[in-house]
Amino acid sequence: MSDAPPLAKRKRNSTANETATPIRSHIWKPFGDIVLQAESTQFRVSRDVLANQSPVFADMFDVPQPPNEPQIDGCPLVILSEDRAKDWEFLLGILYDNPFEFKKSLGFDMAVALLRLGRKYGIPTAEASAIRRIHSEFPAAFEAWNRNELLLEVEDVDRNLIDILTLAYEFGINTSIPTIAYACLRDKSLEQIFTGVMRTDGSRVLPPQKILQALTIGFERIMRFQHEAYMWMENDTVIPCTLCRQREKCAEARVELHRVVAWNDLTNAPDCFALCFDFEDFSGDFCKPCAIAGKAAHAVSRTKAWQTLPTFFGLPGWKELEDVQ
Ligand SMILES: [Zn+2]
Repeated sequence: MSDAPPLAKRKRNSTANETATPIRSHIWKPFGDIVLQAESTQFRVSRDVLANQSPVFADMFDVPQPPNEPQIDGCPLVILSEDRAKDWEFLLGILYDNPFEFKKSLGFDMAVALLRLGRKYGIPTAEASAIRRIHSEFPAAFEAWNRNELLLEVEDVDRNLIDILTLAYEFGINTSIPTIAYACLRDKSLEQIFTGVMRTDGSRVLPPQKILQALTIGFERIMRFQHEAYMWMENDTVIPCTLCRQREKCAEARVELHRVVAWNDLTNAPDCFALCFDFEDFSGDFCKPCAIAGKAAHAVSRTKAWQTLPTFFGLPGWKELEDVQ
């Protein structure tokens, strides 16, 4: 038998939102036998559906309810303190409205909801789906990263990389932290990160001190790494190569390439390029032997950058890096 307290005792301090006049979500099932309230939004649902997914709810419903507890339309009311209405909207939407749609794709907001509620209420399938989504975009394997790299260039309106990084730290998705942190530094300057990156709703995200520190140290280490690993772009050890057919022209093209990749053209600020940029995009001005030599040197530097990536951000190497279960 469970030790779970009766429903009413699960109530904690009410927030301002909870005391506002409640509104009914569109998830208001006429045969539902319980009303959940997150912030000021209420949902009428079935205990069976919740208990089937979550042992926390199953235990809670096992406990007989004391008389005279608050009810809505004859259903017990459960206040879900600290939960976001939006998260419950997503979770219940999956359970009631579109379970098949959910299997096809998972928006980032939905992944956040599933992660938070899945972990809090012990719904392993929800949590695993969310983590799978984050791993697939921010993998811990070089081959997978190479397949995904171009995706980082796509502006996804429902996500903010700093929010994703904060989430990965909060939930211990450690194996995705190196690539998310790197993507943050690719996407925004340190100045932007320190002053708060704008979300699509107009609010700003300011990461906690621990993350600011990891990004700042990471940026400095990546710059130093690039300087050393790409020293060949600053001298003629690789280009012009011994088989070069146009030494002067290739040397000039190499200097130009270094300028373009080391200094972000848009912000005119030093750029984290250790893992990105496709050498072939810039090889048009080289003779063929120099293009081949440059591509090979770039591949060596890039592989080394991948191997070193977690340690740039103060994490253990890839082999030791593990998610918190
Ligand atoms: Zn050449």
